[in-house]
Amino acid sequence: SYRKGGYHAVRIGDSFAAGRYIAQQKLGWGQFSTVWLAYDTQSSVNYVALKIQKSAPQFAQAALHEIEILSAIAAGDPSNNKSVVRLVDHFKHSGPNGQHLCMVLEFLGDSLLRLIKYNRYKGLELNRVREICKCILTALDYLHGTLGLIHTDLKPENILLCSTINPSKDPVRSGMTPILERPEGNPNGGVIINSIEKRLKQRARRAVARISERRASMGGVGMLPKPARCLDGIDLRCKVVDFGNACWADRPIAEEIQTRQYRAPEVILQSGYSFPADMWSFACTAFELATGEMMFAPKGGQGFSEDEDHLALMMELLGKMPRKIATGGARSKDYFDRYGDLKRIRRLKYGSIDRLLVDKYKFPDADAREFANFLGPMLDFEPEKRPTAKQCLQHPWLNIDNQMHDNEVKSESSVEKVNVGMTNLQIKLRK
Ligand code: ATP
Ligand code: MG
Ligand code: MG
Repeated sequence: SYRKGGYHAVRIGDSFAAGRYIAQQKLGWGQFSTVWLAYDTQSSVNYVALKIQKSAPQFAQAALHEIEILSAIAAGDPSNNKSVVRLVDHFKHSGPNGQHLCMVLEFLGDSLLRLIKYNRYKGLELNRVREICKCILTALDYLHGTLGLIHTDLKPENILLCSTINPSKDPVRSGMTPILERPEGNPNGGVIINSIEKRLKQRARRAVARISERRASMGGVGMLPKPARCLDGIDLRCKVVDFGNACWADRPIAEEIQTRQYRAPEVILQSGYSFPADMWSFACTAFELATGEMMFAPKGGQGFSEDEDHLALMMELLGKMPRKIATGGARSKDYFDRYGDLKRIRRLKYGSIDRLLVDKYKFPDADAREFANFLGPMLDFEPEKRPTAKQCLQHPWLNIDNQMHDNEVKSESSVEKVNVGMTNLQIKLRK
């Protein structure tokens, strides 16, 4: 991919935008871009994430689309508290592979996918899951309710942890000294250049490791230095990123949206989609945070496709799809007969979220019931029946008092009994 039309090769110390941003360390990459930690020499109080798009026309087009959306997001949220990544600048950069559109984004930390991995796929504590869910729902409520945007690719990988410490505001404590230039010499190699390059890389890695450790020990998380342990006593906040596939609800872009495991049934069946498709992906994400495993991991098999396995897994967990929904999409005939039964997967083993949480993931009964009660409505086969992000933010599960499960006694004034489905939960009143 590092050829004409593809990625721009970056080396530590490279500068961008007429010397304003200096590459420090690679943060990640995707199908469209590589993303770098960069030092902003002009504000000198900020490290930023530099997303450098591949150069071919279709990638440039996609970047323009993403910039347009990120600009609308920034314009509608001047105080930057809606849990969505902020675009701070953008420019073009010419290199040997062509002209690359670059986005300058606020620098965030590790993705929720890495957080799940660091927790050894065992799932996070429910109080953590609650905090993260509130952030994501805040973002979705803003995107859907205020802007009319559908993200279309919500998943743990596209949600990044926030860091509470900015390394350059306090370089001594963060242990980060910016690399300001690359050494002179033939950029195509040679033993000397290679060894300098190696030293620069080591230095950048050490600096980033130091930031991570500082952050973890100071109650900000950002990048994760050590498995599991690093979350003690930390307030988890996160932001939604990757708006390359986002679209305005009145102008849907593609027919097939979302990453497989987080894809809503109306997308598979091609019955038309809107905001509720994001709510489906959100519920899958919340489940994965709590259990460490994907809610649906379909596989194609003998005589049936991945799509059909996916629909079967959905029904096994959530109950039979109403006939009207099953047969109502442009692709329904590929999977369902006219009675609304799957054509090629006949015998389904029905269960429930509640039972799965207890039996497979060893949740205590009450936890399982309450969490299933939160997730269930977002996984309604009928998209119109799913709650909005705003409605979800009001759900009692998000406001369950953290100490409830430690049986701590609270004064009567701050605690009230609230009826949630079948159970009485004690929730702390928000003022
Ligand atoms: P995709 O193929 O997923 O669409 P993409 O090319 O659009 O990829 P992103 O998903 O936006 O790229 O970013 C790629 C990776 O870079 C992310 O998964 C993340 O690890 C890292 N990254 C992106 N934005 C930031 C940021 N603001 N701060 C820190 N790291 C980031
Ligand atoms: Mg991505
Ligand atoms: Mg993208």
